Amino acid sequence: MSESEAGGPSGDQAHDRVQTRAVHIRASAPEGSVPAAVPLYQTSLFTFEDLPTFADAWSRPDGAFTYSRFGNPTTKSFENAVADLEGGTSAMATASGMGAVTTVLLSLLRTGDHVLAQRGLYGGVFALIADLCERWGVEVTYLDAEDPAEVAAACRPTTRMLYLETIANPLGQVCDLPAFAAAGRQSGLITVVDNTFASPVLCRPLEHGADVVLHSTTKYIGGHADVVGGIIVVGEPELASTLWRRGTELGATADPFAAWLAIRGLQTLPVRMRQHCANAEVLATRLAEHPKVARVYWPGLPEHPSHARARELLEGFGGVIAFDLHGGEEAARSFTARIRLASLAPSLGGVGTTVLHPASISHSGMSPDALRAAGIDVGTVRIAVGLEHPEDLWSDLAQALD
Ligand SMILES: *Cc1c(COP(=O)(O)O)cnc(C)c1O
Repeated sequence: MSESEAGGPSGDQAHDRVQTRAVHIRASAPEGSVPAAVPLYQTSLFTFEDLPTFADAWSRPDGAFTYSRFGNPTTKSFENAVADLEGGTSAMATASGMGAVTTVLLSLLRTGDHVLAQRGLYGGVFALIADLCERWGVEVTYLDAEDPAEVAAACRPTTRMLYLETIANPLGQVCDLPAFAAAGRQSGLITVVDNTFASPVLCRPLEHGADVVLHSTTKYIGGHADVVGGIIVVGEPELASTLWRRGTELGATADPFAAWLAIRGLQTLPVRMRQHCANAEVLATRLAEHPKVARVYWPGLPEHPSHARARELLEGFGGVIAFDLHGGEEAARSFTARIRLASLAPSLGGVGTTVLHPASISHSGMSPDALRAAGIDVGTVRIAVGLEHPEDLWSDLAQALD
């Protein structure tokens, strides 16, 4: 092996001392073959041979990579893949799902703007909007999201954004996305859809008229409970450039390693989603027949209020089930104390099943009135169904219920 093949000194470097040579290790670009997996470029910056090339890259968002807050090849692979699955033109990966939401709201709203938002949003988004109202002078009107006429009726001259979730948390409400997006467009609003619960496997909101789609990739896209991340996907280039500019100002960018893990998750997303949906169907059907259970919310059940819409819009009903127990809060607490296989934990979309009590955890920031308006009871339990065998899961739930 020659010295240069061994990564040792060559040319001028031969005169550098060991401290210097230890620092200057070059990345080797493969020649004559292509890596099968997307490589992890865990680098915060990129170096240049000359100033004009550097200056050119620095001045253009689509230029060569300069600094990983602005762009990174691993992160870019992830962004391109999700943009492609969602039917968008570009995407921006963020440090978390909330990073994606914050980037979208702070980039597209200003003081005095009015937002129309679906009631029963993800708890963190609900809290963020409350904060924007109190501290930044944004205004909000919550919609039931049952009738698209609610949009025009609630619109003011200052209304700027319509914010929806494909499958709302935790009760599985599915709104008429094409009709709401059309109503939003008619009123000149930007329609933003949080597609976390559906993933691009079950629904692609841009195809139904949404302008911006976002995800917590912590959930189904990451899929293994080992990474926190988010992503924003858009179709319109001007919107993309505004979000990228302000998102990088906010520092919302994903770390390359998080993007690399999310790519690994994305590759099995369609297979996992199929099993999440199939397992949820088994559990929802059996819960609905159980004498201790008062009501089950899963859009795949014919009696769910959104069932017809979910059939039209979704290619599967998702992996999240909520249910109310006879016996209310007390019964919900004793159920959560008795589960063994399912974990009492926040979050969803990982390989393992998680259970939580929305009123005390995910929606604890909501007042009793807001909870009631969102249809969440103090006795509601949420199950995010994982990939275990459904019979093992059912045994666990059944023993916790009995
Ligand atoms: C988890 C979640 C978020 C927030 O994502 P983080 O990755 O936890 O920041 C936003 N929306 C929905 C629907 C979620 O489930």
